[in-house]
Amino acid sequence: MELLGRKATVMGLGRHGGGVAAARWLAEQGAVVTVTDVLDERVLADSIAELKDTPIANWRLAEHCPHDFSRAELLVVNPAVRPDDRFVALARAANVPITSEIELFLTRCPARVIGVTGSNGKSSTAAMIAALLEATGRRTWLGGNIGRSLLADLTEMTADDWVVLELSSFQLHCLGDEAPWPQIAVVTNCTSNHLDWHGTFDRYAAAKQRLLRNQSCHGTAVLNGGDPIVRSWQRLVRGRLILIDDDDGLPPLAVPGQHQRRNASCAAGVAMAAGCSAEAIHRGLQTFGGLPHRLQFVAEVDGRRFYNDSMATTPESVMAAVAAFGEGAWFLVGGYDKGFDYAAMAAELARAARGVACYGAAREQISELVARAPARRGDVASFVTLDQAFAWCCAQARPREAIVLSPACASYDQFRDYRHRGEAFIALVRALVE
Ligand code: ADP
Repeated sequence: MELLGRKATVMGLGRHGGGVAAARWLAEQGAVVTVTDVLDERVLADSIAELKDTPIANWRLAEHCPHDFSRAELLVVNPAVRPDDRFVALARAANVPITSEIELFLTRCPARVIGVTGSNGKSSTAAMIAALLEATGRRTWLGGNIGRSLLADLTEMTADDWVVLELSSFQLHCLGDEAPWPQIAVVTNCTSNHLDWHGTFDRYAAAKQRLLRNQSCHGTAVLNGGDPIVRSWQRLVRGRLILIDDDDGLPPLAVPGQHQRRNASCAAGVAMAAGCSAEAIHRGLQTFGGLPHRLQFVAEVDGRRFYNDSMATTPESVMAAVAAFGEGAWFLVGGYDKGFDYAAMAAELARAARGVACYGAAREQISELVARAPARRGDVASFVTLDQAFAWCCAQARPREAIVLSPACASYDQFRDYRHRGEAFIALVRALVE
């Protein structure tokens, strides 16, 4: 599609980079760009500042205007926009082509693409795959939902390169059947999430399944066989299937947790499919240090070890953290409730944790579940803020115990996002040493 002079509307500038990257790239292609978002200038200040040198023809913030949709010649929708949005419907009714940042990228990408999805472990697995490919001398680009758009890198990419693209259920939902889908597909697991957007679990799962259904028969799918739902998706695989059934043969990893061993097994399966040797894969996995905000080791203070797992925004990821630490850890849990069922997580926390400090909007709900669990080992307490919960844990934790921020909830009752929350936790730890 020729973009020079074309009226393109970017719907949803957002704060995570995808909208900024799409707007900038479209302007560079000579499109006449309108940026529109229901959020206002103040909330979007950082994203707007990033576009200060980009010629944006029209800004429409704090509202949407019907004619920005019905009269556009291309609509680039942010994946956070709900599928039944009435402005998207207006564009559709006016036969405006509708696309997304990921689709713009994939339709122009010359490199081989590995798409990684799942409810938990997408970023960790994608980063491990990229580390393995890099370590074996393959030029690799890591992007997508992990927080980096690769549109600006297209000019440098070649057919010999590899792209590792983390894909959320929203991004998969928005990607058209006709787009070039990733040659290698990876699914880490599938548990209930984002039902406020998708409506039902079946629709959420269907969005993830699109990564398999749309692959060509020359593709490869790497599925985590340890997840019963993902295991049952074998029947959807159109090309080669690599089913990861155990973690035998993996070397010891630098990152903690059984869940990371499963992520690593999936990553190793991909690297094998990409032609890396078993010996190089072992070496690469042993040196992979993990990503910030995912069971990230922060510091040891007076013998107590602090871990930032702010990215743990589902009950399953908290259960993975509980399993990683065994007994002897204090957990900080809470924040904005996305409507999860916390019962299984609360039972695990009650059974294994030395103590659980709940804070934020979901504090009463979670602390009551922990307090009422049949077998409880440690204490449970409820606080308004993260700082108070942190102080309580610090006052009680003994040497050789861990204090872990693993919230299970979204952050936006008290923080901008999970990074802001993780950094607040790190600052609290640093303040202990100063
Ligand atoms: P995603 O990109 O899917 O959100 P991340 O790799 O960023 O996943 O990890 C998010 C959280 O989930 C972290 O707390 C991490 O420790 C936890 N986690 C990672 N892999 C898994 C897994 N396979 N199962 C459960 N939890 C996991």
